[in-house]
Amino acid sequence: MSDVAQLDGSDPLAAKRDEFTLPEAVIYLDGNSLGCLPRNVAARMAEVVSAEWGQSLIRGWNDHSWIDMPTRVGDRIGKLIGAASGSVVAADSTSVNLIKALSAGLEMRPSRKVILSDTGNFPADLYMAQGLIRGLDQGHELRLVEPKDVEAAIDDSVAVMMLTEVDYRSGRIHDMKSLTAKAHDVGAIAQWDLCHSAGAMEIDLTTAKADFAIGCSYKYLNGGPGAPAFIYVRPDHLSHVEPFLSGWMGHEAPFKFDLDYRPAPGTTRMTVGTPPILGLSALDAALDVWDDVSMRDVRAKSMALGDLFIAEVEARCAPYGLTLASPRDAKARGSQVSFHCPEGYAMMQALISQGVIGDFREPDVIRFGFTPLYVSYADVEKAAATLERVLKEKLWDTPSFKTRSKVT
Ligand SMILES: *Cc1c(COP(=O)(O)O)cnc(C)c1O
Repeated sequence: MSDVAQLDGSDPLAAKRDEFTLPEAVIYLDGNSLGCLPRNVAARMAEVVSAEWGQSLIRGWNDHSWIDMPTRVGDRIGKLIGAASGSVVAADSTSVNLIKALSAGLEMRPSRKVILSDTGNFPADLYMAQGLIRGLDQGHELRLVEPKDVEAAIDDSVAVMMLTEVDYRSGRIHDMKSLTAKAHDVGAIAQWDLCHSAGAMEIDLTTAKADFAIGCSYKYLNGGPGAPAFIYVRPDHLSHVEPFLSGWMGHEAPFKFDLDYRPAPGTTRMTVGTPPILGLSALDAALDVWDDVSMRDVRAKSMALGDLFIAEVEARCAPYGLTLASPRDAKARGSQVSFHCPEGYAMMQALISQGVIGDFREPDVIRFGFTPLYVSYADVEKAAATLERVLKEKLWDTPSFKTRSKVT
């Protein structure tokens, strides 16, 4: 038996692959951007559409407890990120949830004006902070430092330290626990974006004492394109968060139709408008695959898949100018591996045409996500061999692969 066959043979998560619908002849290394379709989602969606929406109509809000889906689904996500029951709600997008968390954090530190983040953060998060600063018009400043300099930049001018745990480009991990402790030492609020870590690694928001966390559920949580995101508020903060986005679904009594806003108790106050029941239903069904999964097994396999990929790619592709853009040490790396690659965009298009799907990130990064529930060791070896062939045979060197699509 080959080494990879042996690894797959003793993989405790191997059977999970059958719980997903995977396209034929595709090795999917982009579950960090859009997770695969869990098999049970299609049937659940058909039922929700035909039986619940089609037959129950408006009665569904009560009869099928649609109204409680944001907190119910939020609790299921909470279990995967070390959050107490009642501290996570599924709602809106990560971008919108960032505004909710950041505005609440800034309000908790009214005399401070600095939001500390880093240049490796996902730009969407920075854009939202910039917009909030403009809207609040209270003289806040978004202070960006290099990721390695974050710790040294935490001082008592910082109102909110706003970080993403796993860097979208390189996969580098920020140490949530120690940076949160450092922020708290100087009286700052710690806000974490878990987009590239939820469902990929062990997260313990409770032990880390994070104040706020946000994240999306269409990446490692497989909730489907544009699935509702989540927001966590540390339980002891909840009662004094006065939501900036004071929506009626977050009102204490939405159906009293009072003229004044009063926040609901609990995380419900972090919701804004009518919840998207179809999206929440797909996500709810998608979360079933985690019921019997140990996040420790997921993380162990994810590190092993990444290590194998690095070893295979470096052994096969070094002559073609690829250099590792991710931490070599698996413990410092999320569930993805990136390489700097000349002609990276065209390279990735050629690779996709050969059935290996990863993605490209500016300026020259080809990125591969490893989702232990449905990626095997054999996939990883085959993907590296395909990459080698694309480079050796210069399959990328055609005009059609060099034209950028709208989504990269
Ligand atoms: C994927 C991702 C987002 C996406 O936010 P949306 O509102 O869902 O578009 C935001 N932040 C980070 C860090 C991400 O990785």
